[in-house]
Amino acid sequence: TSIKQAMYFKDANPAVDTTIIYSDLRTPGNGEDFYRSAQEKGVIFTKGKVAEVVPNGATSTVKFNDLILGDTDASILDVDLVVLATGQVPNSGINIDAPTGAEEEGAVQVKPISILNLTYRQGKDVPQLKQGFTDSHFICFPYETRRTGIYTAGPVRRPMDIAQAREDATGAALKSIQALENAELGRAAHPRSGDLSFPKVRLEGCTQCKRCTVECPFGAIDEDEKRFPVFNESRCRRCGTCMGACPVRVISFENYSVNTVGAQIKAVDMPDEFSEKPRILILACENDAYPALDMAGMSRNEYSAFVRIIPIRCLGSVNTIWITDALNAGYDGVMLMGCKSGDEYQCHFVKGSELGRVRMSKIDDT
Ligand code: SF4
Ligand code: SF4
Repeated sequence: TSIKQAMYFKDANPAVDTTIIYSDLRTPGNGEDFYRSAQEKGVIFTKGKVAEVVPNGATSTVKFNDLILGDTDASILDVDLVVLATGQVPNSGINIDAPTGAEEEGAVQVKPISILNLTYRQGKDVPQLKQGFTDSHFICFPYETRRTGIYTAGPVRRPMDIAQAREDATGAALKSIQALENAELGRAAHPRSGDLSFPKVRLEGCTQCKRCTVECPFGAIDEDEKRFPVFNESRCRRCGTCMGACPVRVISFENYSVNTVGAQIKAVDMPDEFSEKPRILILACENDAYPALDMAGMSRNEYSAFVRIIPIRCLGSVNTIWITDALNAGYDGVMLMGCKSGDEYQCHFVKGSELGRVRMSKIDDT
């Protein structure tokens, strides 16, 4: 908006001196061309922080800290008009991961107003990223939120102009059509699109510990009045995080379970203690790590023949018993291979690598 308004002035009268003092220049995509055309028209861009506007008769003096030149006492004299541009403040919901009462310094404060009013135990709205935008996997599947069947588009998701928002909405609409078709057939949504398997729980073994309910990244598990887990099929993405979380291993899928992966781990002819060592087991996430290993293979990169790789749905699905199985089978070490965890996570299932790391840090208790 600031650039547009500055251009209006320049179009009306090219002799008008127009300066934009900015802290962050947000001109993504085609906005970069817009920014350049403003420069060509003579709009001046100065990175700085305005300290004070001092009235001076019919004009004003704008004092600011010039962040490029490091001049803390910079000023623009005889300004006829000062416009304070207000930035967009996203309000996409509630940051369910934020520790309460410990707001980050300088973070955008978002009013927790829900327009969705969802019936998830984690909150009434879709989770947001720390900048206040709706959480989504911004590289692989940008429209998906952690609430299955809800797709965000346009500036709800990230800053963008109207043309980009229109295109974005088309993508989100296509995703929602796909989700409806999948739900009708009982199939999983992205990224295990088409998967007909579903987590089953053997309730007689359940200790009502609530780990599955708490760790499910998609809020797909509720509790009944006796505090047993109740799985919601249409919300579930089939990541297996609940299976990895369950300490008594009573959650399984028809085609993926603690036992099926355990059997793969154990099905090795381990050499003698002192020959052909060390033997390493890699549990590789099928979404990122395993394709990366495939690409390494296609590039003719070699890795040690002592390494055995088993693809898994997500590092969040790693049950610590698999580590015990591997060590009992004679492996010398186990490596979990997945995407980077943290703020800029790109986990297909939100926090698989983070959960894997936390579980491994407590492996001594297993
Ligand atoms: S498979 Fe994943 S999404 Fe489904 S209930 Fe388990 S943890 Fe939740
Ligand atoms: S993690 Fe396992 S034991 Fe705990 S509530 Fe879920 S199903 Fe029951």
